[in-house]
Amino acid sequence: MAFNMVEKHSSAYSVTWGINDIIYTEKTPYQKLFIIETEEFGRALVLDDILQTTINDEFYYHEMIAHVPLFTHANPRRVLIIGGGDGGTAREVLKHKCVEQIDLVDIDERVIAVCRKYLPELACSFDNPKVNVLITDGVKYVKSQKNKYDVVIIDSTDPEPMGPAVQLYSSDFYQSVYRCLNDDGLFVAHTDSPCFSFGSDNFRDFWHRINAYFPLTKAYITCVPSYISGYWSFTLGSKRYDPIRDYRHDTSIKTRFYTSELHRACFVLPRFMQELIAKK
Ligand code: SAM
Repeated sequence: MAFNMVEKHSSAYSVTWGINDIIYTEKTPYQKLFIIETEEFGRALVLDDILQTTINDEFYYHEMIAHVPLFTHANPRRVLIIGGGDGGTAREVLKHKCVEQIDLVDIDERVIAVCRKYLPELACSFDNPKVNVLITDGVKYVKSQKNKYDVVIIDSTDPEPMGPAVQLYSSDFYQSVYRCLNDDGLFVAHTDSPCFSFGSDNFRDFWHRINAYFPLTKAYITCVPSYISGYWSFTLGSKRYDPIRDYRHDTSIKTRFYTSELHRACFVLPRFMQELIAKK
């Protein structure tokens, strides 16, 4: 191990990563971008000093953000990904043969270019003819679309520290997402750590913002070893399909984390999360 990188989350909590090599660095117009080789997790993407995804555990996250909504919809054909510039979510969505088009909207073209070069295991789907990459702000893009998508996936950076993703967690944005979905459409956003000071206030607020527009709002959990705090939350807002009642099985889709048993199980929330949701 050559040296350490410290990921600071508060004055009292930091994570120290053992790094073998810094492969690439750049200050893009939107964020600081690093590709590093970590000791435990392999190659990783870091944005604004926060580790986003690693080769060794990316499938814990990308399979759960993609397959839970895709299997919940009866026939997802048009999918919108906001963010997702590493390509991992698009790679998983493409495993669903019914999907005809994926529009991937990332604000930062440099993330896509750098991941193509240094994280090809994730960025392998950008040349697929079904994937249409648009470089623009997801907030503006979604506002201009109406009744167009079956599934929307918000695969953005975190709401904190302040960065280009902050508005992707706002009430106005969730309302625009509702409008850009078809009548039976649904969407998923990652909604921070639900664990005490790591993000429980955010989780509760985002859940209520989503629930203000969608008739059915359900949070689900996963764990991602390289993320802080243990649990990680996603929240699904749906116009018609219930992710527990209506989901499909298709064993021909190969996954390493997602299973249909896990699909049901991930919606079973610990009591403290149920209580967060119950509080306004
Ligand atoms: N998969 C990662 C994770 O595990 O959390 C996150 C993916 S990372 C590639 C998030 C992407 O969201 C970045 O490429 C960033 O440029 C993009 N992003 C942030 N704010 C955005 C915005 N307002 N509109 C579109 N993309 C945005």
